[in-house]
Amino acid sequence: MHSIRIDPAKCTSCQMCVKVCWEDVIRWDEGAGKPIAMYPEDCVVCGLCEVLCPAGAIEVIPDWQSKRWPRELSRAPNAATIIPS
Ligand code: SF4
Ligand code: SF4
Repeated sequence: MHSIRIDPAKCTSCQMCVKVCWEDVIRWDEGAGKPIAMYPEDCVVCGLCEVLCPAGAIEVIPDWQSKRWPRELSRAPNAATIIPS
């Protein structure tokens, strides 16, 4: 399973990661006032949360054995035809 590490010490609670995660992996923890990677099994390793976090508080660690993207795409028989060169 992919891992989404959020460093609470760096996080400024801007909620950007919650807004940009289109797979709803990252949710807002009202009690802690911080984001939480609630459903890492749904992460598709798009990297948006990591790239757009203004505090550099997120690290997405892919699990290359995961059944979800990008492993499936790399194994597609016609991968060369669907990956733009
Ligand atoms: S985008 Fe970064 S700084 Fe903003 S809430 Fe998420 S982890 Fe915290
Ligand atoms: S890498 Fe993409 S899918 Fe995974 S938690 Fe971040 S924004 Fe969501």
